[in-house]
Amino acid sequence: MTEAANPDFIRALVHRDNEQGTFGGRVQTRFPPEPNGYLHIGHAKAIVIDFGIAREFGGVCNLRLDDTNPDTEEAEYVDSIISDIEWLGFTPPEPTLHASDYFGQLYDWAELLIGKGLAYVDDSDAETISAERGGYGQPGVESAFRNRSPEENLDLFRRMRAGEFPDGSRVLRAKIDMNHENMQLRDPIMYRIRRAHHYRTGDEWCIYPTYDWAHGQSDAIEGVTHSLCTLEFQDNRALYDWYLEQLPLPSDRPRQTEFARLEITHTVTSKRRLRRLLEDGVVDGWDDPRMPTLRGLRRRGYPAAAITEFCDYIGVTKSNSRQSIELLESFVRRELNRTAQRRMGVTRPLKLILDDWPVGDDGQPVVEWFELTNNPENPDDGTRRVPFTGELWIESDDFAEVPPPKFFRLSPGREVRLRGAFLVTATGVDKDEAGNITAVHATHDPESRGGNAPDGRRVKSTMHWVSAAHAVEATVVLYDRLFSAEVPGERTGEPLDDLNPNSREVLSGCKVEPALADTPAGEVVQFERLGYFAHDPREPLLFHRTVGLRDEWANIQKRQGK
Ligand code: ATP
Ligand code: MG
Repeated sequence: MTEAANPDFIRALVHRDNEQGTFGGRVQTRFPPEPNGYLHIGHAKAIVIDFGIAREFGGVCNLRLDDTNPDTEEAEYVDSIISDIEWLGFTPPEPTLHASDYFGQLYDWAELLIGKGLAYVDDSDAETISAERGGYGQPGVESAFRNRSPEENLDLFRRMRAGEFPDGSRVLRAKIDMNHENMQLRDPIMYRIRRAHHYRTGDEWCIYPTYDWAHGQSDAIEGVTHSLCTLEFQDNRALYDWYLEQLPLPSDRPRQTEFARLEITHTVTSKRRLRRLLEDGVVDGWDDPRMPTLRGLRRRGYPAAAITEFCDYIGVTKSNSRQSIELLESFVRRELNRTAQRRMGVTRPLKLILDDWPVGDDGQPVVEWFELTNNPENPDDGTRRVPFTGELWIESDDFAEVPPPKFFRLSPGREVRLRGAFLVTATGVDKDEAGNITAVHATHDPESRGGNAPDGRRVKSTMHWVSAAHAVEATVVLYDRLFSAEVPGERTGEPLDDLNPNSREVLSGCKVEPALADTPAGEVVQFERLGYFAHDPREPLLFHRTVGLRDEWANIQKRQGK
């Protein structure tokens, strides 16, 4: 249970309802995605609220597919939605519910409203309806078809349902008030004629209910008590209530409450916009690691727990605001620091040759095996054996022939620590004809086995390394922000104008320690000094950088004096 002392406004509301016995102490919520795309980080917030509140108050949260638009919906999305919710740690109750389950009931209720003189068939075209609706501060105009008799409306509506009229030729509208200051109440559309194959109901229907006509009624049919949604539905609430007031309901009347959408800097959270990225070939798929979809974040290596903890942390508010991507990343880093095993991998390899490395009786360079800790944060993760020989790969930017100021890594004459192995001193370089460094030569201190000299002398730098003879080739993908602007689209209104052309850098020919070949698909490891990397779920030895090691959120806080 959340801190009863300081609950957010929705939890406070549920507490009050329970105290007052509003819904007989029942708490039932629902998560109602439209199956027209994959879930994204914004949906995670809604899931954590909808499922989280039901869980905390001993209630139920239904998963209801809001499938009233046959043009865009597909069964493929339904399966992914369920598995993404489960990945986040919530279990939607069986069976999954669908707005389309209620098409029959909704139809009957529409006839009921017609009979009460509260709905009418309008033959006007879409432009006329839209023009007659008026605007804010501007009265609407009543349709020429508004005063048809209930009998005529019923006849026409039944014939709409029977398929006698072409698509788009007529609609059913609620008869409310063409001068209402809330535009939603100016005779909203309840049904459209649309001959499209629905992924569940097939060709059974050629008229489809609108979101507003389906939503509150679906809530009522299921016995939802608290219908939680995002702020853009605030104006729809009056219509939600109006429909429910007209109907003989099987349960308490549900109540809609709105909360702020989750928006994140450098990110878009709208399925429509995410689909554009896909269609324009900006990303490779819904699970491209740059996508803010749950699939993308998961492939990128974001732990589910980091996402849900982030959502809990930002809480439930009533005003829209944009969260920093760095804050989300700090949750990812904190979780991975606890769970990810440490490994060594060299992304831009440079050969380091120890000229004084011993040769064994067999004439081959000696191989030393070092026992390295898998995770200093978790002793249970144990150790692994890592081979070390006289030829190693180091990160090319860990060496400078002429070190700039404050460069403490390897340079000629300088001694550094090869992590967990030996102290080494660079002696010189090999160059190709163009003058590029092709190898660095060095000597090692055999007394410093394990990485510390017996005389306790200090070195300023510890570097990662991989034995050249044992290295495994890997591909490492580095990611930067998909949108360079903090608020994509702020300048021009079009987020795609703010795409970062360098959001992905593929490094092939990386040299990684042999243990990485055994890393399970999908697992995240820490490459020492470089960041956290997720092993691709399908392609072995492909690693996606989840997040770097530096806590940029802490820096932002410091800059803001927090
Ligand atoms: P999109 O604009 O991405 O298509 P949507 O609101 O149309 O989003 P739905 O599938 O209809 O997507 O949404 C299912 C639920 O998730 C709704 O209750 C909606 O309010 C909520 N939701 C969607 N986006 C966000 C977001 N960015 N933050 C919080 N909740 C969201
Ligand atoms: Mg929507």
